[in-house]
Amino acid sequence: MAEKSMIKFSDGKRFSVLGPSLNRLFGGKVRRIALDAGFTCPVRDGSRGTLGCRYCDALGTRARYVQPECSVREQLALGIAGCVERNLEAQRFIAYFQAYTNTYAPAEQLRSIYAEGLSDSRVVGMAIATRPDCLPDDVLDVLAEFSQRTFLWVEMGLQSSRNETLHAMGRGHSVEEFQMAAERLRQRGIRFCSHVILGLPGDTPEDFWAAARILNESGAWGAKIHNLYIDRDAPLAREWETGSISLMTLEEYAESVAEFLARLSPDILIHRLAGEAPRGRLLAPKWAGHKRAFLRRLDQLLKERDLYQGKFLTE
Ligand code: SF4
Repeated sequence: MAEKSMIKFSDGKRFSVLGPSLNRLFGGKVRRIALDAGFTCPVRDGSRGTLGCRYCDALGTRARYVQPECSVREQLALGIAGCVERNLEAQRFIAYFQAYTNTYAPAEQLRSIYAEGLSDSRVVGMAIATRPDCLPDDVLDVLAEFSQRTFLWVEMGLQSSRNETLHAMGRGHSVEEFQMAAERLRQRGIRFCSHVILGLPGDTPEDFWAAARILNESGAWGAKIHNLYIDRDAPLAREWETGSISLMTLEEYAESVAEFLARLSPDILIHRLAGEAPRGRLLAPKWAGHKRAFLRRLDQLLKERDLYQGKFLTE
């Protein structure tokens, strides 16, 4: 029987990587500028909850360097100037609406906020983080409109393939809502990147593989894969202190990611393979503060086991 050959990925990797793809597309180094446009989330303002997702810190995943008191235009200018000052080479930037739920406002307001994200001619694209329950038709119209103006993608969490886990984590949406939102984005030709967390309490490896299947079927353009870590400002920190939460070791997480990738469509671009806890706020696991060690181990494991993205879909 002829031996199956590995799908070819660029950059010597065993999975498809976002960064080099963007750099090739735009002919040079591209960097993301994280923004906080002053939104909240339906799981914070009482619509679907008040505590936020259990693993999320009070800043709604805002990057440390962002100055939320500034306008989007100012944040963008400061972020770009910071890159230039640190000599980070990039001449092209992605305006990344990252903090909280960046479609949770009336369509007209979103239109003017997103326009500020394009206020610098060096911005070549836009990433908009949101939730499956915050994409009504008029908001989709605005996203479709900006997709025509720039290289836009939406970031949308699935997080778990189990509704019980989503409920326990205070996500305030179901797997079915994710699938419906994905379908509506796809119908309008809006590319999206889905987030999953491997290691939420109650989820098993079979649940991780089910999440890979959901992503494959959703038509996702990209994926961000996260480990569960405990941020000292997240509601989950209190549960972790009681000893009721167990976290993966680096080895367990690397194995889970390797197996997850083997079940994930090779057409999905990998945006991230592990979460990064802000310095000084990480309670556990300690290895989550050493992402490079994890990435090295993942590369080794993929080689040792001859695994690569999509391998199990072609066998
Ligand atoms: S994870 Fe996202 S949706 Fe949940 S509270 Fe944090 S910012 Fe809001």
